[in-house]
Amino acid sequence: MQELTSAMVKEQAKLFGADLCGIASMDRFEGAPPQADPRFIFPRAKVCIMLAFRIPRGYFRGIEEGTLFSVYPSMGYGGINMVVSPLTLRWLSCWIEDFGWEAAPVPNIFSNSSTGFSTQKYDPQHAIPVREGLPAPDILVDYRIAAFCAGLGQIGYSKVFLTPEFGPFQRFAMMLTDAPLEPDPIYEGKLCDRCMRCARACAGKAISTTETESITVAGHKIEWGKLDYLRCSTAYMGGTEEYNPFLPEGIDVEKMAESYHGSKSGWNGYPAHLGHNASIEGARGCMRECYVHLEERGVLTKPFHNKFRDRKPWVITPEMRREFFARGKGEENAEE
Ligand code: SF4
Repeated sequence: MQELTSAMVKEQAKLFGADLCGIASMDRFEGAPPQADPRFIFPRAKVCIMLAFRIPRGYFRGIEEGTLFSVYPSMGYGGINMVVSPLTLRWLSCWIEDFGWEAAPVPNIFSNSSTGFSTQKYDPQHAIPVREGLPAPDILVDYRIAAFCAGLGQIGYSKVFLTPEFGPFQRFAMMLTDAPLEPDPIYEGKLCDRCMRCARACAGKAISTTETESITVAGHKIEWGKLDYLRCSTAYMGGTEEYNPFLPEGIDVEKMAESYHGSKSGWNGYPAHLGHNASIEGARGCMRECYVHLEERGVLTKPFHNKFRDRKPWVITPEMRREFFARGKGEENAEE
């Protein structure tokens, strides 16, 4: 059978729609919690191929201007995870298997019901381990750790993954294969300078500026700001009056956010897209503010002719909300 090399896989992955491709040897996952260890998904796998799909920065434009909120949640979040990357994974699986190697895709599709993902802990709630010594299904691999293992970039203080090409603007998908491919070196650059702009601009103030968490991966210590997951999930869905122009009057944000799974979506005044809750905060701190900072520092390898941001970000003041609801929400539109 024809030889398959890392260079061939990377070239083909890009032809199939990935923007970046990095390869990690499986020993780099040594020490991972079993519930997040990809070696349990495909024990004979020799490497983990990480694919990055850029979120074009234009997908954020409508939210950045405050005038079109649907693009990022649909095309930049659910669309990449549920449509674009699964197609690339399928095409790449078939292509690799034509060389006689098995290729097991691990798409970025949450297994909420079985893993208790809402708590962001690897804590399966409803599934039975099928053999002695195995973790319960579904294993939920941390794509950020895997992308680090594959040499694609670094995890920022925000816990969002940063690449030299796109900064924080990408999503990931994974492929495991028994093909003996050459791994990439770990990225040794320093994109994150701990400026803390992500934490300050986060709508939910979910990133601590004083407390950190850290792990060691492939001999490298990785540290990020402690994240309050409930504040993060509440804010990203638009649970703040300052950054959600659709938020109904008098909503108990905390109560609704605590039970945000599927059936409760919509409390934020905006529809869910492609199986994902509407992320209408548009990653204000961890992605957009970070991107502005990386662009200002000139560290991104894919620069633009124009800056992403050229004026102060918008904010909805309490007076704006009071005035809007005093007028009678939606009445003017209904009269047109
Ligand atoms: S905003 Fe600053 S501190 Fe936060 S991840 Fe980006 S570079 Fe790091």
